[in-house]
Amino acid sequence: MAHFHPIFEANSPAVRVRFGPGVREDIESEIDRLGCSRALVLSTPPQAESAMEMAAKLNGKAAGVYTRAAMHTPVDVTADAVAHAQEVSADCLVSLGGGSTTGLGKAIAYQTDLPQIVIPTTYAGSEATAILGQTRDGVKTTLTDPKVQPEVILYDADLVATLPVAMTVTSALNAMAHAAEALYAVNRNPLSTMLAIEGLSAFKRALPAVLANPQDREARGETLYGAWLCGTVLGQVGMALHHKLCHTLGGSFDLPHAETHAIVLPHAIAYNAAAARDELQPICDLFGGREPGASLHAFGQSVDAPIALRDLGLQEADLEKAADLAVAKSYPNPRPIEREAIRALLQAAWAGEPPKP
Ligand code: NAD
Repeated sequence: MAHFHPIFEANSPAVRVRFGPGVREDIESEIDRLGCSRALVLSTPPQAESAMEMAAKLNGKAAGVYTRAAMHTPVDVTADAVAHAQEVSADCLVSLGGGSTTGLGKAIAYQTDLPQIVIPTTYAGSEATAILGQTRDGVKTTLTDPKVQPEVILYDADLVATLPVAMTVTSALNAMAHAAEALYAVNRNPLSTMLAIEGLSAFKRALPAVLANPQDREARGETLYGAWLCGTVLGQVGMALHHKLCHTLGGSFDLPHAETHAIVLPHAIAYNAAAARDELQPICDLFGGREPGASLHAFGQSVDAPIALRDLGLQEADLEKAADLAVAKSYPNPRPIEREAIRALLQAAWAGEPPKP
């Protein structure tokens, strides 16, 4: 299938990417390469021990360790981390973790312009974008700025081997959601479409293999490859209904990021299917079936993905407000955003019903 478009724009940032099991051992040389010598190592509290171990191996090039990264990048944590970075005279950041840790590194870089080395341990893909989402008083806002784009990414399959099985599934579906929406993005280009298809296909191949044997290094490597492609495409084109819904549900109802993506994805794609039939055909080609929403739903079931927003703690009474928030601002989407249809979509996703074509 050709992906040629007669007219397009494509922007790619200059990012150094290294891939391979054990590549995390080379952080020191990457710090040298940046011309730096005082790295602040970042993590979430549960990954603090790994961050400490990593810092200890940096031969005196770790200026400190900051382990308070939290989901959705709260601005008070960022303020504290920036003060800490200044206190220890950090000249670069090493973010070891998932999207929350990467988010903190990006938020510090936004204020200080410190270069970032990211070592992802989930498939969220934030490391490959210049996008920063931050939360202040329970309201999440997003900005895009070149200062936020990490300079170096080290993808090491050994680090995702510790990802629990449930998180492996939801994080993979979170990544796949970037690629699925990239297929119909208003500013898509031939390269973004190729990246999206290859990213989806990497997860389709490797995720079942990882679930069969979570220590399968090669399959874990391929899922990280998928994460890189899906994250890269997220950084290059605009997202639509699916990301808008997840953003609303995460920011306003405090639902967990990856799980929310995993549940909403088949519903959002089904909503847009008729309006983007050709663009979404690669999903049917890859996952089988004639309806892309149903194809993704079947894939989700095959990997035991969560299916109901109610299981994440969302109350049925919140669906009205969620629908109102989701339609409050306009944005490009293949199918017009219709309040009642969005409300029905949320109801089905809340109850764990299959997506409606
Ligand atoms: P996360 O970073 O919050 O990680 C979830 C939990 O899993 C944390 O407790 C973490 O410590 C733990 N964990 C991570 N990797 C692990 C591993 N290998 N082994 C064991 N435990 C591990 O979750 P996430 O889904 O990666 O990131 C979500 C955040 O990232 C959200 O705030 C989201 O908005 C943001 N995000 C931003 C972008 C962007 O481009 N700006 C893209 C994707 C996600």
